[in-house]
Amino acid sequence: ILKKTKTLTNGVEMPSLGLGVWRVEDGAEAVDSVKWALENGYRLIDTAAVYKNEEGVGEGIRQSSVPREKIFVTTKLWNADQGYESTLKAFDTSLSKLGLDYVDLYLIHWPVTGKYKESWKAMEEIYKSGRAKAIGVSNFQEHHIEELLETATVHPMVNQIELHPTMSQEPLRNYLKEKKIQVEAWSPLGQGKTLSNPKLIEIGENYGKSAAQIILRWHLQHDVIAIPKSVHQERIKENFNIFDFELTLEDMEQIDALNENKRIGPDPDNFD
Ligand code: NAD
Repeated sequence: ILKKTKTLTNGVEMPSLGLGVWRVEDGAEAVDSVKWALENGYRLIDTAAVYKNEEGVGEGIRQSSVPREKIFVTTKLWNADQGYESTLKAFDTSLSKLGLDYVDLYLIHWPVTGKYKESWKAMEEIYKSGRAKAIGVSNFQEHHIEELLETATVHPMVNQIELHPTMSQEPLRNYLKEKKIQVEAWSPLGQGKTLSNPKLIEIGENYGKSAAQIILRWHLQHDVIAIPKSVHQERIKENFNIFDFELTLEDMEQIDALNENKRIGPDPDNFD
């Protein structure tokens, strides 16, 4: 039996599966997808200042029947806002757009060279004030984390990275496990591109599941938190319906074998 949450190093429980809202339009589209997700069992919503839909996300949360304290909300600090003072300011803006008095997780979106250590000081202050229940990073490679840890007084609790069957990130996952940093997968479905893979479809047929469900279950069985995006009610529902089966070790290994170390998104060492 697989737990529906992961315990972060500070004791905070983070849901293993959530809704991602990148490229979801602010307004009705964001409100509806968040509401549908919450009504179908999701308790984690992943947004970012740069997605420009924090207002819709907040509205979707308020319109749902799920109480705020049962929902885990993540947002992220955008690159242009990095630096100590500007991080504090950007965080206040995000909170006010969301219409919340705290978030559950605040992440540095990308490791902007020469800036992220200063930003982290502000993240630590935000964490200590209780307005972010956990703090972490995104798109950090091992060397970025090593550099951060030289001066950090609070260690990042999460690293959200590109991770899907064709970019399985095994070395980074092993490193993060050793550092007790929870791995979270962005573009967990490879932005939909891996869904037509015949191997995944074939595995799915044995369980009566779709390729999307097989991939999401693969993430969870690797102790990875996944945040698939969809704005369609049926797919939102489908993507959450993965807690009633278990992939065999053999199937896990067959999916592992699809790795090509191939990114869809930018390389964190060369992204701007
Ligand atoms: P994804 O891997 O979640 O794929 C989403 C796409 O897959 C959808 O647009 C749809 O076309 C398709 N899809 C989803 N469910 C499906 C289903 N059941 N059947 C068929 N098709 C389906 O891609 P994503 O949106 O890039 O990533 C998910 C989330 O990760 C984002 O919304 C965002 O929250 C986060 N993210 C973070 C970063 C970062 O830098 N931290 C970067 C990219 C994405």
